[in-house]
Amino acid sequence: MMYVHFCKICKRIHLLNGHKMTCPKCSQPLTELQISYLEYISFSHAERNRFLDMCSDQNSLHKISTTYRMYKYSKWYRNLQIINEDACQNKQNTC
Ligand SMILES: [Zn+2]
Repeated sequence: MMYVHFCKICKRIHLLNGHKMTCPKCSQPLTELQISYLEYISFSHAERNRFLDMCSDQNSLHKISTTYRMYKYSKWYRNLQIINEDACQNKQNTC
């Protein structure tokens, strides 16, 4: 399966096989986008340019990006949640 990723450093879309965390070009963290591979490849040239503009904008990027859901179930993510809950209890009702 191909997934659509965006690299903020290279400012380009990467179509990559699987859920990749780092850019194949610059090795910096990638943002995975909600759009499916099939949707993206059906875009016209102009639509791709517009889409790239959206990705380059921090606010729009936030709306169209996704977090690969499997990592909610990974060990480090669960540990992170536990740490957050502890932090909340320590602050006493401030969360
Ligand atoms: Zn890159």
